[in-house]
Amino acid sequence: VRKINTRTVQRATRTTQRDINRRILLNLIRDHQPISRADLARRMNVSLGAIKPIMDELLDSRTVVEGGTANTPRGRKPTMLHIRTRDRYAVAVDVRLGHTTVALTDFDFRQLTLETLETPSDPRALVERVAATVAKVLNGRSGTHEGVGVIVPGMVDRRTGRVVYSPQLGWRDVDIRQPLAEATGLRVMLENAPTACAIGEIWFPTSLAPDQDSFAYVAVSDGVGTGLVLNGELVRGHKETAGEFGHLPLDINGPRCLCGLRGCLEAYTSNLATLARYRGWDYSDPGTLDRLRQSELDIVDLIRLAARSDEGATEALLETARYLGYGLAGVITAFSPAGIIVGGEITGAWELIGEAVQRAVRERTLTEAARSTPILPASTQGASRLRGATSLLVALSFRAPDVI
Ligand SMILES: [Zn+2]
Repeated sequence: VRKINTRTVQRATRTTQRDINRRILLNLIRDHQPISRADLARRMNVSLGAIKPIMDELLDSRTVVEGGTANTPRGRKPTMLHIRTRDRYAVAVDVRLGHTTVALTDFDFRQLTLETLETPSDPRALVERVAATVAKVLNGRSGTHEGVGVIVPGMVDRRTGRVVYSPQLGWRDVDIRQPLAEATGLRVMLENAPTACAIGEIWFPTSLAPDQDSFAYVAVSDGVGTGLVLNGELVRGHKETAGEFGHLPLDINGPRCLCGLRGCLEAYTSNLATLARYRGWDYSDPGTLDRLRQSELDIVDLIRLAARSDEGATEALLETARYLGYGLAGVITAFSPAGIIVGGEITGAWELIGEAVQRAVRERTLTEAARSTPILPASTQGASRLRGATSLLVALSFRAPDVI
C-alpha cells in the first residue's frame, strides 16, 4: 500500500490516461516484439480502434517501426511492430580506478565501438577526455543521439548529479554531469556502478526470470557495491545513497577499509582485498594499496592461477567466497530478494567458489526460504557495467509514468 504524497501529487489531466496507455503499449511491444496490432489490442483487452491514435503517434515519431509480416496459415498477413533501436545511439561510460571505457551502443545494447582511456585523478581532466572520446565515437553517426550514461564507483546523488563520495577515486562532492553535458551538448545521466548494473538487469534481464522483480545485484570489483530492486524499482533512500552493503562491518575490529572504517565487507571481499590476502600483505597498511596497484598480478591472473590448482590462489579465493556469503546473507535477511546476482571478475571463478558462497549464506540466514535464495553469477560476461550505463538512457523512454 502506497500513500499518496499530497505535497508532490499532480492531478490527473485529460492526457494522463493517454500517457499511461502509451507507456504500456511501448513496453508490450518491447517485451513481445515483433508483435501485431491485433495481438497488442488483445493483450490490452481493447479494440484495435482504441489503440490506433497512440499507435499512429508512436509510428509518426518513429519510436516504433513496422517491419516484416507474420506467417499466418490463412487470411491477411499482419504487419509486425518493433521498437526502433538501430539508429538510436547511447554512449556508455564506465569510470573505474585506472581506466575508463567509452562504448557506443544502440538502444538494444548492441556494442558498436569501444574505446579505453586512462582515468585521470582530476575530475576536470576526466570530463575533457571523455567528451573528446564521445565526440569521436559519435562522429558520422546519423540518427538519434539519446545521450551519455556515466557510471562511477561511488555514491551519487541523482538529483544534483554529483558524486557524493568515491573512496576509490578519492573524490568528494564532485560534479561531472553538468560539465560533461556542456562539453558534449548531450543529455548526461550519472549513476553509481552497482546500481546501474541492477538497472541493467531490469531493462535487459539475463540472469533472473522476468517475473522476478525483487532482486539484488552485488558487484565485486575494486570495491563492493549493491543495487537493490524491490517490486521493479530501485531502492534509493532519502539521500539517494542506499545499498552500501560493502561498507557494513563483518567485524568492527577488522582490517581498515578504503572508506576509513574498520572491518567493512569490502575490506574482505574486493579484488584488492583478495589480492592482498594472496600476497600475505596487510590490507590495513596504507602502503599495501600502492603495492597492489603497482603489482603486475591482478584478479584475473589470480583466478587463472587457481584454475591451475595453485594452492595459495585457491585459498585466497575461497576465503573471499566465505566472507562474500556472509555479506549476501545480510542482504537476504534485510530485503528478502528473489535472488542475488553477483557481478565482477570474481564470477570467472564461480565453479571454484559458488558452493562456498552458498554454504556461508546458509550458515548466516534464518529461514529455509532465505537459505535457498538463489545466488547467481552475472551472465553478461563483463558487459554488465556498460549495459547498466546504456540502461540509464533506455529507462527514461520506457519507465512507468509518475502519476501519483
Ligand atoms: Zn568501508
